[in-house]
Amino acid sequence: MAALQGSIIPGFHGTVLTPSSPQYASANQRFSQTAVLKPAYIAQPAVDSDIPLALQFALKHHDPLEIAVKGGGVNPYPAANTNGGLVVDMSQLKSVKFSADKKTVTVGGGALWGDVYAEADKQGVVVVGGSVFLVGAGGSTLAGGYSPLSGQYGMAVDNMVRASVVLADGRSVTTDATHEPDLFFAIRGGVNQFGIVTEMVFQTHPFPGPITVGSLGYLGTDLPKVLQALHNHFAHQDPSSKMILMFARSPPDFSPTILILPYIENKKTNPDTVLAPFRQTATPIFEALSVVNNFTAVAHAADSALTGQPPRANIDGALYSDLWDDVATDVYQKWVEFTGQSKFQSTIVMWEFSHRDKIASVPVGATAFAARSPHFYMTVTARYSDASDDSQVAQWTSQIAKSVKQAQIQKTGKPLPIPASLAQSPQTESVQDVFGPNLPRLRTVKKTYDARKVWNRGWVIDPAL
Ligand SMILES: Cc1cc2nc3c(=O)[nH]c(=O)nc-3n(C[C@H](O)[C@H](O)[C@H](O)COP(=O)(O)OP(=O)(O)OC[C@H]3O[C@@H](n4cnc5c(N)ncnc54)[C@H](O)[C@@H]3O)c2cc1C
Repeated sequence: MAALQGSIIPGFHGTVLTPSSPQYASANQRFSQTAVLKPAYIAQPAVDSDIPLALQFALKHHDPLEIAVKGGGVNPYPAANTNGGLVVDMSQLKSVKFSADKKTVTVGGGALWGDVYAEADKQGVVVVGGSVFLVGAGGSTLAGGYSPLSGQYGMAVDNMVRASVVLADGRSVTTDATHEPDLFFAIRGGVNQFGIVTEMVFQTHPFPGPITVGSLGYLGTDLPKVLQALHNHFAHQDPSSKMILMFARSPPDFSPTILILPYIENKKTNPDTVLAPFRQTATPIFEALSVVNNFTAVAHAADSALTGQPPRANIDGALYSDLWDDVATDVYQKWVEFTGQSKFQSTIVMWEFSHRDKIASVPVGATAFAARSPHFYMTVTARYSDASDDSQVAQWTSQIAKSVKQAQIQKTGKPLPIPASLAQSPQTESVQDVFGPNLPRLRTVKKTYDARKVWNRGWVIDPAL
């Protein structure tokens, strides 16, 4: 039995795994095999106070160990893992507790959004979090956190009112607008650069009632009509509704297909009215819509698209101010060509359209999440099986994302930051690209909270001089 119950880290209540532990392989699993490395230790804290012990163990090692933090394990970029170092695996710290008045919820740093929604459904409230159940609340929120609810309530970070953080020196602090306010600014977009977040407190919102989700499918050749339908939709878009435009090839024939994936709160807008442009301006070849009565079902709406996928993923993304038909058409053509190779046919492109005003109503300097101009976002998710294709795939996804970023600059003169949750890697996007105008303040906060750069994975912020 090689799972070490604290024996290797004195006082540790949780489990410490090494490569010879039977549970090591499953604890080392990720959404994408690209993020599966070989840590020397996987420390799974059972209580928050285990975390400083794991940090001390790593840093006092005769040759200090690199430290990585695993939240939901969804990011394909290996920054949440390490070769030869120590992973703090937050998977046992996933409690979800509501306040007596249900107005706030305290979420453990290792919870998945699916854990949060399961409890929120019981309370009759919603929480602003990721669209898919398997996404880590920690990793997604600390990068900003887009949600199906963002058009109404902003980013996940805009709904976070307090957090508990274990700092690089092992101290555990609580931070909010008045306690350690610089740290509170920094963790709301600064990702893993300031500490390990053990708890996040979010405000909740009332459950909106029945929600229409699912998909409408179109022939690839109908892209111009679907784009026109989206423009018609934007002219009357209610903040409560969201549309996703998706390029996907689906079995059995894997021909290029355009999908519209709606999120419509039926009590706020009539789904038939909202969907009218998507039925009249363009004609769907199929409709697979359902009305669901809880947020767990919303977060599972894409299950069939997520199962049975090739094991490797590479994701890159871009923010853009407006839907430009020429840009979407150019990306579509490149996607058709790339996915014409059967080994890449599961690759998808998603263009997400929430109402833009709410996120942009927060000043740029209020949180480290810097994308506060009205915008939409898109992601390219390449799925494939063979590690020998890694560099070709990474190059292709970054080229697609880059073409959208360049169009943004050409058409508006204004680059938009790219949140770390949607970016590919520090080789592709710089620290400046990710943190944008907030980088100088983040460097100052880094000097206060992590001058020695203990948190040195991913987009590493250099402390101010
Ligand atoms: C299928 C899919 C759906 C997605 N949907 C959305 C969406 O709806 N909205 C959205 O905004 N993004 C979405 N994303 C992107 C997602 O937010 C990022 O991949 C995010 O980094 C995942 O966080 P994680 O905790 O699951 O991942 P991990 O790989 O475990 O962690 C990602 C990063 O966060 C750090 N981290 C995680 N937890 C903590 C913690 N408690 N304290 C400190 N650092 C921590 C890690 O060290 C790492 O740097 C999606 C991604 C996928 C693959």
